[in-house]
Amino acid sequence: MVDLKGQYEKIQKEVDEAVINVIRSTAFINGPEVKSFASELENYLGVKNVIPCANGTDALQIAMMALDLQPGDEVITACFTYVATAEVIALLKLKPVLVDVNPDTFDIDIDQLKSAITSKTKAIVPVHLFGQCANMEAIIEIAKEHNLYVIEDTAQAIGADYTFSNGTKKKAGTIGTIGCTSFFPSKNLGCFGDGGAIFCEDDELAKKIRMVANHGQSVQYVHNTVGVNSRLDSIQAAILRIKLRHLDTYNEARLVAANYYSSELAGINELQTPVISDKSTHVFHQYTLKCKGIDRDALRTFLTEREIPCMIYYPIPLHHQEAYKQENASDKDFAVTLDLCKNVISLPIHTEMTRESQDIIINGIKEFFKK
Ligand SMILES: *Cc1c(COP(=O)(O)O)cnc(C)c1O
Repeated sequence: MVDLKGQYEKIQKEVDEAVINVIRSTAFINGPEVKSFASELENYLGVKNVIPCANGTDALQIAMMALDLQPGDEVITACFTYVATAEVIALLKLKPVLVDVNPDTFDIDIDQLKSAITSKTKAIVPVHLFGQCANMEAIIEIAKEHNLYVIEDTAQAIGADYTFSNGTKKKAGTIGTIGCTSFFPSKNLGCFGDGGAIFCEDDELAKKIRMVANHGQSVQYVHNTVGVNSRLDSIQAAILRIKLRHLDTYNEARLVAANYYSSELAGINELQTPVISDKSTHVFHQYTLKCKGIDRDALRTFLTEREIPCMIYYPIPLHHQEAYKQENASDKDFAVTLDLCKNVISLPIHTEMTRESQDIIINGIKEFFKK
């Protein structure tokens, strides 16, 4: 599904040198590489504060802790997402309120989001799924009207640009109150282990986030609040500094590969190729097709038998997971999510794709439809 080795080989000399330098410096924790990476990412994103942390799940948890969300507070998020989003909400004893998504762009459905708001709602967590932004303009408007925080889960969309109707452009993760991302190796900006970061414009809030991520400590050995221990290693920061310089090129390579898939598969009526929103660029963390009127699992088996990799993101809707059952909700409320879980299939997409490797995949799919 990804080619991390091919990508590494192209920057090997630089990366190896940077890693060796951190080892020789022995500044493994909070070394200068971490600070430099944070400020370079601030510049790239056009946001005042980037606070590195240990992984994307921690980023979401720290964001909710820093906003002082209290047990019982309701947090609305999409039903069709990776589990981490809902997990941290539940972990903090907040109440995850799941909402269905749009059938074409897979982002949170705005009408259903509106009807899910109650007097206990405190925050919305839009997920920029597969690489393009949710409908942030509408979400920000709703949040203002109801006085809610917006925590963007931008683990899959770092580098994507969102355009408001007045023409203003912002980077994914810098639009809401707080943005959260992951540097898991296979993400668009991935390190060589775990990593994550939190973005925010407000300096006071950034201070609180830094404090929560560092044992709730304001000055050394003074603990104002209960926090966590969540840090990005200096070695990972050194690698991320190098990869950040390539991020736009990486995202462009993904887009080129996605466009090639879409043009080659356009003639197959039983497949819907990804729909790109007119408000967001798409950085194609995943290239996800939707099957129409065919047995998705038969296609999956057919490709797997021919050693063509493919994956199902995600096979089980969150509200069917034992841990995230929704009271008073029925399958009718999540019709789109259920349909997607049954019909989506993701193809390999990464920065090192060649026409030859894509042609093998495309021909495999065409062969299935010739049967
Ligand atoms: C990867 C991912 C996360 C979690 O990131 P980790 O670094 O693995 O903790 C959260 N949300 C989404 C949408 C993701 O894709």
